[in-house]
Amino acid sequence: MNRKRWIRWAVGTPLVVLGLVVGLWQLSRSWTFQLFGELYPRVETTEKVVALTFDDGPKPGQTDRILDILKRHGVKASFFMVGRSIERNPELAARVLAEGHQVGNHSYSHHRLVLKSPSYVQEEIDKTDALLRGLGVQGEILFRAPHGKKLVVLPWLLSRSGRKHITFDAVSRDDETQDVGLLTSRVMESVRPGSIILFHDGGREKPGTIQAVDIVVEKLKAQGYRFVTVSELLTLGAEAH
Ligand SMILES: [Zn+2]
Repeated sequence: MNRKRWIRWAVGTPLVVLGLVVGLWQLSRSWTFQLFGELYPRVETTEKVVALTFDDGPKPGQTDRILDILKRHGVKASFFMVGRSIERNPELAARVLAEGHQVGNHSYSHHRLVLKSPSYVQEEIDKTDALLRGLGVQGEILFRAPHGKKLVVLPWLLSRSGRKHITFDAVSRDDETQDVGLLTSRVMESVRPGSIILFHDGGREKPGTIQAVDIVVEKLKAQGYRFVTVSELLTLGAEAH
């Protein structure tokens, strides 16, 4: 290899590898694209309708306070639960269901399901499905990836069993901050008809989230929005086509 070619190879190869890694990383965190199966960050509709979603619960002191707010507003939401949190708080999980909200699968351990074996990922899905069935959940169980991360194995397994993967298009990023004003404005600036809104009822303490949910529901209602579960939203989106 002459000197010029060697330099081109020495510079080019790491760049190609870097490009590939950056591309895969972008793909793993995309809200709107995955390699296999159905991914829903929102639905297309002109109707003022949105789905409120809560991840990582159930958690005492948070999920119950959010349920109280939703009940006060007469609003139904969707809770993507973590299997081990259901095991710790079965009564709270049952309360979510009893109050008419939708519950979905957010894995068992909440580990990133990227670069994991198919059997590991399948077990993460199956264990939480079994817990939800044990609570009496019937019909399809929607799935949402922990940390919003997926690459090849997770979408492939979900598509193989005809499972819908739900992301979001209006995010509070309440895992980063608990500033009520910021959480509220982030959601209000990105929400539109057909949006799927993301908050967290699990994880670290979320006093800001609890207040922001109350404000966001109030503001959206004042703008004429109504709230439905994710499954109801998907049906409305299908009708709009
Ligand atoms: Zn999560």
